[in-house]
Amino acid sequence: MDCLYFDNNATTPLLPQVRDAIWPYFAEHFGNPASLHQPGRRARTAIETARAQVAALIGAEPEEIIFTAGGTESDNFALLGSLETLRPQGRHLITTSVEHLAVLDSCRYHERHGGSVSYLPVDASGQIDLAELEAAIRPDTVLISVMWANNETGVLFPIDAVAAVARRHGIRFHSDAVQALGKVPIDVRRTPVDLLSLSGHKIGAPKGIGALFVRRGTAICPYLHGGHQEGGLRAGTHHVAGIVGMGTACDWIRPRLCQENERQRALLRQLEDGIRAAVPEVVRNGDPHSCLPNTLNLSFPQIEGEGLLLGLDLVGIAASSGSACTSGSAGASHVLSAMGVPGARLHSSVRLSLGYQTSEAEVAALLQRLPAVVGRLQSLSLPADVDLSLFDCPVIECLLADHD
Ligand SMILES: *Cc1c(COP(=O)(O)O)cnc(C)c1O
Repeated sequence: MDCLYFDNNATTPLLPQVRDAIWPYFAEHFGNPASLHQPGRRARTAIETARAQVAALIGAEPEEIIFTAGGTESDNFALLGSLETLRPQGRHLITTSVEHLAVLDSCRYHERHGGSVSYLPVDASGQIDLAELEAAIRPDTVLISVMWANNETGVLFPIDAVAAVARRHGIRFHSDAVQALGKVPIDVRRTPVDLLSLSGHKIGAPKGIGALFVRRGTAICPYLHGGHQEGGLRAGTHHVAGIVGMGTACDWIRPRLCQENERQRALLRQLEDGIRAAVPEVVRNGDPHSCLPNTLNLSFPQIEGEGLLLGLDLVGIAASSGSACTSGSAGASHVLSAMGVPGARLHSSVRLSLGYQTSEAEVAALLQRLPAVVGRLQSLSLPADVDLSLFDCPVIECLLADHD
């Protein structure tokens, strides 16, 4: 059976244009960009072209783009590099309780090393409250980190307003924009963000490549040591093919962003309406009025989310559980937990996420296959008052954990 891939927030297939563009950099153009000879110069030129392409998608200058090994490294670098640089001014950082683990675990690392962190709560729709952000600011606050869009629910945060608060208080502002890139417009000339994390494999480029936008004049300590690459800020021989792929993806997306946004938003509406027609009791998690065009996080009451995922996989639908296998959280999604989603709904969530390659025919095929799976599981399901968390199986959870 053909696989219907609805897990694009976890990773995306390579864009065909990217596949074609990167191959020569694994094959004949294998030079080390640090070398002075012709093969080296060729690789260096390709990197600078890609840097300009990535910069153009977010309105940055090419010198403000530092290539990294992905979104995780960019988040670690932005947070830990900033906190080290700003240590004389203070060691307090403000973030949200629904960030990606790349941010949350960097925060915990900072706390273990004597720093302090405030985690802003979110409301039932997954939104933060700007008044609570203002209230969390202390004299020793040196950094605010708020993601542009949430990877599990698709909720878009009020980034312009957060950036304005940070600016007004003279506090550095970082945003994890990995899920927002290529889906909604990002313009760092308009939004006063100082640091922005980006990743290649969420936008049709390979895994293992990412970038950090560092606004000109923003001092940051290097995170990797060992060479003079990337202006001395990120040591290590460049992943040339990955960089070319990320540049090519950004270049492909830039003229298509608005059109793709509308196309995916329309497909997502079809998907949601179709599922609601078949399963009226379904509940959408996350603010539907401020959301990525491609992400639908749904709870199917009285069905265990992971059972549903397995059932969907059996009929060729690749989706994701809303919950990642995070330590100490009994398998429940930290994002939905922070939103106060009640127990049964918490354990019955499934995320469907669209990509550039998702077609109307695939949405129609999903709508044909999904209701039978849901119906079968509902007929097997337990009474509504049983606490599904009692049935958590750590082994299955770890097998199914999505590491996006
Ligand atoms: C995927 C993701 C990351 C991690 O990026 P990698 O390139 O996989 O390391 C970070 N933040 C968010 C919001 C993500 O969705």
